[in-house]
Amino acid sequence: MADIRVEKGDITQLSVDAIVNAANSTLLGGGGVDGAIHRAAGPELLAECRTLGGCRTGEAKITKGYKLPARYVIHTVGPIYSGSESDTDDLYNCYVNSLNLARDNDIHSIAFPSISTGVYGYPKDEAAEVSSKAVNDWAAENSSYDIEIIFCCFDDRSYELYREIFNV
Ligand code: ADP
Repeated sequence: MADIRVEKGDITQLSVDAIVNAANSTLLGGGGVDGAIHRAAGPELLAECRTLGGCRTGEAKITKGYKLPARYVIHTVGPIYSGSESDTDDLYNCYVNSLNLARDNDIHSIAFPSISTGVYGYPKDEAAEVSSKAVNDWAAENSSYDIEIIFCCFDDRSYELYREIFNV
């Protein structure tokens, strides 16, 4: 069973098995949550990321967490919002592919930031709908796998949106 939670705060502080990074396709660091994760993890994270050969939009790759309290970082690349239908699929796939990777690595607690809703411009309300659907669908299909899934909201608006969706 999945236990889905909504929390407010800085994802780099969470003691979970894995935190998800809203990375860019180079996996070589950026601003926003990506920058915060690299700063907190230390330079070894970038060194490991350099070996991965980038990541396509909607896909996910895993590294160790180094100096983070989290044991692993799952790097996924959200869509740059364009208003086309593929945005929805790409964002949905970020969550599902991250959760598949988590399951395949015996990860039982994972925290997500609100992928693509910063610099990549995805409207926060639409992104909350897509991501909650992706997580709910995945949980329904993987009901025999025990995992705590946290939506880690950095801003008040995201926190409100996810609390409304999950009624918490
Ligand atoms: P993207 O390029 O995918 O839009 P950003 O990092 O610009 O990624 O923003 C994605 C989301 O991450 C935004 O909603 C932003 O508020 C949030 N965010 C920024 N820093 C943190 C952090 N330390 N912990 C959790 N979420 C964060």
